Amino acid sequence: MKNLVLLALLTTQLPAQDRLTRLLRDILIFDAHIDTPRYFTDEGYQLRDEHKYYELDIPRMRKGKLGAVMFGLYAQPQDFPSERWLPRALETLEALHAEVAANKQDMEFAYTAADVERIHKSGKLAAMASLEGGHLIADSLGVLRVFHRLGVRYMTLAHFASNNFSDSMTGIEIHRGLSKFGRELVGEMNRIGMIIDVSHISDKAVLDAVENSRAPVIASHSSVKAIAPIVRNMPDSVIQTIAKRGGVICINFHAGYLDKAAYDVYFRNRQARDEEIKAVSDKKPVNWEQVRAIQQKYFDKMPKVDHKVLLRHIDHVAKLAGADHVALGSDFDGISGMTPTGMEDVSKYPVLVKGLIEMGYSDTDIRKIMGLNLLRVLRQNEEVAKQK
Ligand SMILES: [Zn+2]
Repeated sequence: MKNLVLLALLTTQLPAQDRLTRLLRDILIFDAHIDTPRYFTDEGYQLRDEHKYYELDIPRMRKGKLGAVMFGLYAQPQDFPSERWLPRALETLEALHAEVAANKQDMEFAYTAADVERIHKSGKLAAMASLEGGHLIADSLGVLRVFHRLGVRYMTLAHFASNNFSDSMTGIEIHRGLSKFGRELVGEMNRIGMIIDVSHISDKAVLDAVENSRAPVIASHSSVKAIAPIVRNMPDSVIQTIAKRGGVICINFHAGYLDKAAYDVYFRNRQARDEEIKAVSDKKPVNWEQVRAIQQKYFDKMPKVDHKVLLRHIDHVAKLAGADHVALGSDFDGISGMTPTGMEDVSKYPVLVKGLIEMGYSDTDIRKIMGLNLLRVLRQNEEVAKQK
């Protein structure tokens, strides 16, 4: 009897297992937002070795079949004086280029969608760069163009604070959306082929950006408000507006963004956590191990969030707006270790492929969600830039 049950189980599971094996052979897994570069500059973190902390390195990337990453460069406006914003963005971009060059056998810098395809086919990881927040370009479209030449392929219009271009979701409302300068910025980004990222900005700013952009936009790391009603997530109406113009919502893996109960605990403790971290960070050289221990202590207070909740967010956008309009924007290495159970680092992406198979998605749709949607938007932005 036991054997019969086992046999029945095997026969129902075999096709799914076959599909998983076949998909993992050549699927492009493309993550729109991973924040590792700051660790290169701050603590000499190296991608070559496997680590028990942080969420990305080459050995784990290989295990997880990760094919391409848009690495985030940032200087949170509240953490740095304004004169450090631009240098900090440049320093982390330089560190990213250096780290990619130091690991030529495993990764290569990508500037175009065609680069991503070629590098992925060659068995290496395609690394791209992105800027998190318009405050990083010092109000200069000239600086924006320099960043584009250096390989930056999307920019989030605002980070945690509103700036001269755009209101932030978590900042004060200054412009009621995008400013006139913000609309000019959108035009310039279209002209040079830099994707407009609408994560972090206010709902009204997202609508302004979509309306003014000639190319599809992305939300590089945003989750679904209908499932987890917290400030950083996107309401259905905004998701639909982005999708109608060909854009893509890349789901954020932050356990607190996926689940409201986890967020409430995180939010309640955030100030205490940040004060403890600040006390450690103020002593130079910074003891990063101690910083991570504080982050872990507060993460342990949060209720666990299973990776199946992450799949629900993906499924929600696919059902609401279509499988052409959802992708991955993990925010790994930018979420202080607050990952969902079963999706702890970049070695775990196959779990999502398996989950999507089990939820009834076709191979075509799984390929789109795991990477091809993001690649398409990148290519469409290049095409728009070629038009005069
Ligand atoms: Zn962010």
